[in-house]
Amino acid sequence: MDKHSDTITIGLQIEDIDFQGKFSVTLNDSGMESLLRDPDTSLCDSTEAEDKYENIHSSHIFGSSSSLAEETHSANDKSPLRPKSPGGSFDSPGFLEKYVGIVTLPNQVQQKAVKRGFVFNLMVVGESGLGKSTLVNSLFHTNLYMDRCMPGVSEKIARTVSVTKNTLDIVEEGVNLRLTVIDTPGFGDAINNHESWKAAVHYVDQEMEKYRKNEIGLNRKNITDNRVHCCLYFISPHGHGLKPIDVNFMKALDQKVNIVPVLAKADSLTPKETRNMKAKILSEIDKFKIRIFQVSECDTYNEDLFKQQTLEIKRSIPFAVIGSSTVVERNGRRVRARVYPWGTVEVENPSHSDFVHLRNMLIRTHMQDLIHTTHYVLYENYRINSLCRNPFLENV
Ligand code: GDP
Repeated sequence: MDKHSDTITIGLQIEDIDFQGKFSVTLNDSGMESLLRDPDTSLCDSTEAEDKYENIHSSHIFGSSSSLAEETHSANDKSPLRPKSPGGSFDSPGFLEKYVGIVTLPNQVQQKAVKRGFVFNLMVVGESGLGKSTLVNSLFHTNLYMDRCMPGVSEKIARTVSVTKNTLDIVEEGVNLRLTVIDTPGFGDAINNHESWKAAVHYVDQEMEKYRKNEIGLNRKNITDNRVHCCLYFISPHGHGLKPIDVNFMKALDQKVNIVPVLAKADSLTPKETRNMKAKILSEIDKFKIRIFQVSECDTYNEDLFKQQTLEIKRSIPFAVIGSSTVVERNGRRVRARVYPWGTVEVENPSHSDFVHLRNMLIRTHMQDLIHTTHYVLYENYRINSLCRNPFLENV
């Protein structure tokens, strides 16, 4: 098992967890320890957290990247009379005659949510070298893996799959996201990769169980949500569709976690090859009855932009992605790109890759959907199965 315990930036925590479930924690932002989770909206819930963010003004809410904010924002567009902050002055002179005031409820929820902060746990799985770390860094404009040491081939042969965690606080316009990226180094590296999915399954189950135990415990106020909200599964571009290890992994986890398949290093494929590869992957996902995350249908009240983005997201699955840590100047803009002797591939250019659609889905439009599905579908299944196994309930 690799051992890392290091401080990258203020508020960053690295944990190392081995297959048996032992783990070490280094928290360097004591405030984060007390942030509690509201399962419904993935919100931290503590007076300390509220104090920490009490100065956030409601105007910060608009323009934030959370889907909660987007939903409310779009609802706000349909209700021009709705005041911008609960208890604040009403925008329209006719407001009091027309409304009792319940139109302000979304604003109240929104303000509370921003005060508490958001939590998102993302697992990345795939053979080493497929660009997982580079993609995570590109998605969140960070460098989460600076101290990573790559094992040599002899180490890889003897290596078992472990689970590592990196936590990072991201603050944008007063909106606070506590992001945890869970990695599975060693996955697919051994000569025999039979059962290399076990470490990830064990981790996902372990976090579900911890949450369940906390829920039935005395101190429900201090529950921290470490359940995996999304698993980005990286598929190699160098094959002909899925490999047995891909099918085994996704089958083992598809009832436990939201799986989002990504076609790695898409710059190594021509557009036609990308289309064929995507079609092959989707047909195999269908053939093996693998359950991947389904992007929900839009509601009629959603903004046109949101509807358009959702359509593009649905069309892009599995996302053909490109990652890069190099920033270059292109037409007066600084962009992340991969520079080759024959040309430059821009990470965020939709005609070069689906990176933008993946980022939109993960962060800007469907983060709350992923969290919601984890709590109300996947965790609920886990909880029911676990209750059914409980000997005290067997005779009920
Ligand atoms: P990981 O082991 O899956 O985390 O992979 P890394 O992110 O460490 O990337 C392994 C190598 O692939 C590095 O040399 C990266 O620069 C390169 N790489 C990362 N993303 C891409 C990509 O989208 N396309 C190409 N061609 N190379 C990439």
